[in-house]
Amino acid sequence: APLGANAVAELEALATRHLVQPWESLEHLGQEARTLLTGAEGVYVRDARGNRLIDGPAGMWCMQVGYGRRAIAEAMAEQAMSMAYNSPWYSTSPVAAELAARIAEMTPGDLDHVFFTTGGSTAVDSALRFVQFFNNYLGRPEKKIILSRGGAYHGSTYLSASCSGKERDKVYLDFAKDLVVHLSAPNPYRRPEGMSVEGFCDFLIEEMEAKILELGPERVAAFIAEPILASGGVLMPPPGYHRRAQALCRKYDILTISDEVVTAFGRLGHWFASEAVFGITPDIVTFAKGVTSGYVPLGGFAISRAVVEQVAGPENKGSVYSNGYTYSGHPVSCAAALANIRIIEQEGLLEHVREIAPYFQARLRELEALPLVGEVRGLGLMACVDCVADKQSKNPLALDKEVGGRIDAHCQELGLVVRPIYNMCVMSPPLIIEKPEIDRLVEILRQGIERTQ
Ligand code: PLP
Repeated sequence: APLGANAVAELEALATRHLVQPWESLEHLGQEARTLLTGAEGVYVRDARGNRLIDGPAGMWCMQVGYGRRAIAEAMAEQAMSMAYNSPWYSTSPVAAELAARIAEMTPGDLDHVFFTTGGSTAVDSALRFVQFFNNYLGRPEKKIILSRGGAYHGSTYLSASCSGKERDKVYLDFAKDLVVHLSAPNPYRRPEGMSVEGFCDFLIEEMEAKILELGPERVAAFIAEPILASGGVLMPPPGYHRRAQALCRKYDILTISDEVVTAFGRLGHWFASEAVFGITPDIVTFAKGVTSGYVPLGGFAISRAVVEQVAGPENKGSVYSNGYTYSGHPVSCAAALANIRIIEQEGLLEHVREIAPYFQARLRELEALPLVGEVRGLGLMACVDCVADKQSKNPLALDKEVGGRIDAHCQELGLVVRPIYNMCVMSPPLIIEKPEIDRLVEILRQGIERTQ
């Protein structure tokens, strides 16, 4: 039930006064609270005033199976009652063992060792820590540099944030600059003028090889990449890019990390997208978000047996991967993940995404006819509406940088939550979305953009 006007005002005042939220504008701290949500079901969230809104970004790309799933809540409650916690330092649980085995089946190639963390940032951080440990242990301490890309987002811990390539997120912060080198963003829409998409792919791969040679392959430890750069604006790499990048990594003995925190667990119609969609078998994949459909925090990485075997086993005395969290493999999170996976299977949601995604993408692309929209791009159930000052220059900078926020505000009034990222609106609804809801989502987004012009 909606809260009374007084209760809403009181709660908003508490949030305004005491809550510091991610990417908080300190300039505006204490002035305005974010939307107060009090309920959710299916693909909808409900605000404190009782309005029902389609959850366009599925929370933060995480709410795969939709809200209000009793089976997940019950699995969590049962686990909490039977054993709410176990220390991963000296024990494990049936649900952690089962989940690790399930994930090992889903991942490409021989990626059959799974390490659990508390979310996506800690998954990336832990994977990078493993890479550092791996090379140091093998006696090549100079092999430390991580290649990342412009526009990337890999998390908010120190090392994962160092890999992120969004310059605006780095203002007034120092990061591990000596450890990370950024390559160009694979953004075909804003490729150099006059260059074909194939030519742009050549450019990116040549740039990567030149950088490896400039740094010295013996100094380059890993290449980390989201299959599709998600928060960077759903940047779709040119065809063949990932395969060619992986071939370079193999040539120069560089480990590949596919950051599938967003793309795994059905967002592109597969458990993992690296192999199924992009034809690559990385050495490590990271996951989080969709593994539990966001019902409770969990993340992790899966690593190739061939890599692990180089540092594991009785002949490797003193080989200890000193990294772990109090909540690594938390049993309640693992129980939620198993229940979530059961739902995805029982309801055929991977197949559903593969079936409905072309409709979702086609309907959204109709928005390209609007004067403010430069490009709509995406794959599966992830898409981005890229707003530009004018279609010729594709220049987003001349626009008011809050344009995405203004579109979101209009859309929220009309019944849709948008994920605004500067000049872009990201859409990644729950996997259970059906055609009528897609139609409504597109219609509201159209009106929201029209009102913004
Ligand atoms: N990696 C990618 C590709 C992400 O998009 C995100 C979050 O959006 C992360 C890592 C960090 O995940 P978390 O916010 O769960 O720490």
